[in-house]
Amino acid sequence: MWLLGSVRCPTPKHQLCSSHWPRATINGSCGGGTCRQGSAQSCLAAPPCRSRRGTCRCFWELLEVSVAQSLHPKPSPKSQPPTPAQSPSHPSNPLIPARSPLLYPKSLIPSPTPEPAPPAPVLIPLLPLNPSVPAQNPLFHPKLLIPSLTQEPKPQPMPSPPTPTLALIPLPLSEPLNPNPEPRPPPQTSHPWPHPRAHSPKCPPLGLESLRVSDSQLRASTSKRYGLGAHRGRLNIQSGIHDGDFYDGGWCAGHEDRDQWLEIDARRPTRFTGVITQGLNSIWTYDWVTSYKVQFSNDTHTWQPGRNGTEEVVFLGNKDPEMPVLNALPTPVVARYIRINPQTWFENGTICLRAEILGCPLPDPNNIYSWENEPMPTDKLDFRHHNYKEMRKLMKEVNEECPNITRVYSIGKSYLGLKMYVMEISDNPGQHELGEPEFRYVAGMHGNEVLGRELLLNLMQYLCGEYTRGNPRVVRLVSETRIHLLPSMNPDGYETAYKLGSELAGWAVGRWTYEGIDLNHNFADLNTALWDAEDNELVPHKFPNHYLPIPEYYTFANATVAPETRAVINWMQKFPFVLSANLHGGELVVTYPYDMTRTYWKAQELTPTPDDAVFRWLATVYATTNLAMVDAERRLCHYEDFTREGNIINGAHWHTVPGSMNDFSYLHTNCFEVTVELSCDKFPHESELPREWENNKESLLVFMEQVRRGIKGVVRDKDTEQGIADAIIAVDGINHDVRTAFDGDYWRLLNPGEYEVTAAAEGYHPVTRTCRVSFEDNPTLCDFQLTKTPKQRLREILAKGGKIPKDLILRLRQLRLRKLRAQRQAR
Ligand SMILES: [Zn+2]
Repeated sequence: MWLLGSVRCPTPKHQLCSSHWPRATINGSCGGGTCRQGSAQSCLAAPPCRSRRGTCRCFWELLEVSVAQSLHPKPSPKSQPPTPAQSPSHPSNPLIPARSPLLYPKSLIPSPTPEPAPPAPVLIPLLPLNPSVPAQNPLFHPKLLIPSLTQEPKPQPMPSPPTPTLALIPLPLSEPLNPNPEPRPPPQTSHPWPHPRAHSPKCPPLGLESLRVSDSQLRASTSKRYGLGAHRGRLNIQSGIHDGDFYDGGWCAGHEDRDQWLEIDARRPTRFTGVITQGLNSIWTYDWVTSYKVQFSNDTHTWQPGRNGTEEVVFLGNKDPEMPVLNALPTPVVARYIRINPQTWFENGTICLRAEILGCPLPDPNNIYSWENEPMPTDKLDFRHHNYKEMRKLMKEVNEECPNITRVYSIGKSYLGLKMYVMEISDNPGQHELGEPEFRYVAGMHGNEVLGRELLLNLMQYLCGEYTRGNPRVVRLVSETRIHLLPSMNPDGYETAYKLGSELAGWAVGRWTYEGIDLNHNFADLNTALWDAEDNELVPHKFPNHYLPIPEYYTFANATVAPETRAVINWMQKFPFVLSANLHGGELVVTYPYDMTRTYWKAQELTPTPDDAVFRWLATVYATTNLAMVDAERRLCHYEDFTREGNIINGAHWHTVPGSMNDFSYLHTNCFEVTVELSCDKFPHESELPREWENNKESLLVFMEQVRRGIKGVVRDKDTEQGIADAIIAVDGINHDVRTAFDGDYWRLLNPGEYEVTAAAEGYHPVTRTCRVSFEDNPTLCDFQLTKTPKQRLREILAKGGKIPKDLILRLRQLRLRKLRAQRQAR
C-alpha cells in the first residue's frame, strides 16, 4: 500500500538523482530536476513535485514544507517542472489542486496557545505515546509524523517504543446493564489468546478497522457532511488525496459542543474493555479529540456514563492526528451500544476522530443466529502474529516436519542484522531441476503490512501438512514447482510495528527499513532507460527489451540502496524465477506492472507492459478467488472503489511508483510479478487471521499454479544436445523476451493462443516455430535445437587448437562469396 506521507531522507546523496524528475527536496522548495538539498531517498521516492504558492506538494509521497514556508512563500526560479502541469489548474491532471492559499486549512496557521486543558473530572491514566512522535507542536504536519532520519543520521540501536501497559481489570464486575453475565471467549480464533501481550487487552477489536463492523452499525449525533459521516470514524481510515474528494479520513461532528457523539452498535451484548481513538486523516486540516467520555446503553434510550467508582470518567484522547491512543475502561462494561462523547479537541480544529472499540461478544439469548455465521477454517495452522524469533522457530518446525520437501535458507541480512529467511518447498529442495519452474512469494516489504507474512507462514505449514497427507493438488504443485517463500523482506520494520501491536501501530510505523528507506521505491529504475530507447526506436535491435542492465550509479558502494534491496536483487539474479507476487496490505486490490507512469510528470497514467494481457490474467486469478475481494457486500477500504474493475488495476494507473520491485523484476529478470494488497487493515488483529487465511488460501494456491500457463522447453545445441544458457526466447508480437536458465530451460507465460516463437543464441542460427498454448492446466512444450554458425564452429576449433574440417572451410568460403556479392549488388 502506498503511503501518503513523509518522504524520509536518510543521508544526503546527490548522485542518485536522475535528471528525470523534478524533485521534492527537504529544504522546502521544489527541486527543478536536481536533488539540491534532497537526498537519494527523496529523489527515488518523490514523484513530481509542484510548487503551489510556496507550498511544495508532492503527490503520492506528499512532502509538505514547514508551515512558515507555506505561509511565506519563497519564490524559486527553478521551482516548477518544465511540464504542462505548471499551470495551476491544468485540466489534464486532476490531481493538482487549484486551491488558493486562503483556502488552506485554518489549522495550518500556528496556534499561539496550547490546547485547552480538559475539564475537571477524573482522568484515567493514559498509555504513553510513541516516543517517535514529535512533541506536540501545532506546527508539525500530520503527514510528517515519522521523524526524518536527517535529524539522526547515525544508526542507533533499534528504538524500542515503550510497551504500553494496561491495568487488567478482574472480571466479572458490576455491570448494571448486563443481560447475561456469562462471558464467552471471542470468536474466530482457534488459539484463544495464546500470546497475550501486555498491551493486548483481553478483548479483541470489534472491527471498525477490519470492516467487520458495517456502516449501519455506526451512528453519530451530527456530521459535517456525508464524506465525514459516522461510517468514516474507523481506525486508520484514509482520506482521499484529491482536492474535493468526497470522502475524508474520519468522522467529524457537525457542531462544536460537548453533546456530540459517535455511537457503535455491537449488535449483541458485548463486554467492552477499551476505546482507541485517532485524529482525522486529512491533507488539509488538523483535527483530533483531546478528551472524551464514554457512555453505554442497551436500547439507545437510556445511557449510563463510563465510571470509575462513582465518578464519571474523562479519558485523555489524542495529541496528534495519527498516533492511536488506547484507553482501557476502569471496569469492563457489558452493553450493546457504546458512545464516544468528545469533551475537548485540538484548539484550531473541530471534533473529528477515528476509533476502534475493544470488546468481547457475549451470547445473545434473543438471537440464536447471531453467534457464528462464518465458517471456521478447517486447517490447523498457527494463527497468530510471529515476531522474528517466533517466525524463525516456526520455519524450523516446518522444516523438521517435512525435511524431504523443505529447506530454509537466508538471502542476506537486514540493516540491523536480522536474517532474511526463505522457505523453499520442492520435491528436491536445494536443486534446480531441468524444466521445473521457480516461483516466489515475497511479503513484508513494508514492515507494517503484516498479513502477507502470516499468510506465507500459514502457507508453508499448509503445504507441508497437505503434502504429507497426500492431497493430490498440493503433491502436484510441490513436485512440479520449486516454491520460495520470503515472509519478511523488511524484518527491522516489522519488529518496530510488532512492538506497538495491531491496534496501536497506526498507519506508518514500521513501513520503512531501519535506515528509513521505502523498499518499494528502492529498486533501480530501468523503465526510464527503456522508454527513452523506445522513443528513439532502438528497442530491441540496439537496446534490449528485457534483462535491462542495472545503471552504474546504482552499483556505487555509497548509493542509497538498502541491504534488504541488494539481498533481494541477488536472489532474483540467482534463481530463474518465472512468477511472483509481492504481498502488501492496506487496500484490497491486485496491481500489475508497470508501476511507474511513462509520462514522468503524471502521478497516474495507464502504463501497460507488452505482456499486459498475461498480467491482467494473473491479477484477475488472484482477485477473483480472494473471498474478501469478491464479496459483493463489501464496502470500500478507504475512498477508492476497485470493485468496478474487478479489483485489479495497473500499478501506474493507481499511483506512480518509480523504483518498484515489480517493474524491476519484469525488466531485469524473467520473472513476472504482481502486487497484492491483501486487506484494508495493514495490521489485522490476531483474531482476524483465521478468516484472512480462508480469504486468501485458494488465491495463494491458484496463483502459484499459473506458473504452468504458457510455454516451456529447453534450447539445445543440435550437435552436442547440451542446453544453451542465456538463449533469447522471443514471441512474435510481444516486445519483451525471456532467456533460458543455466541448463537451457525456459518458461514463457502466455495466455492461450498460437504464437510464433524464436529461439536465438550467440553463435547459433535462430530457429522459429509455432507453439500453441491451450486452455489446459499444463504448459505447452516447445523445445528448440539450434545449429552453430560456421563462424562459431571455427572459433571453437581454433580455441581448442584443433584442425579445421574440410566442410567447414568450404562453408566459410561460400559465406564470404555471398557477402561480397551482396555488397557488390548494393553498390
Ligand atoms: Zn505496501
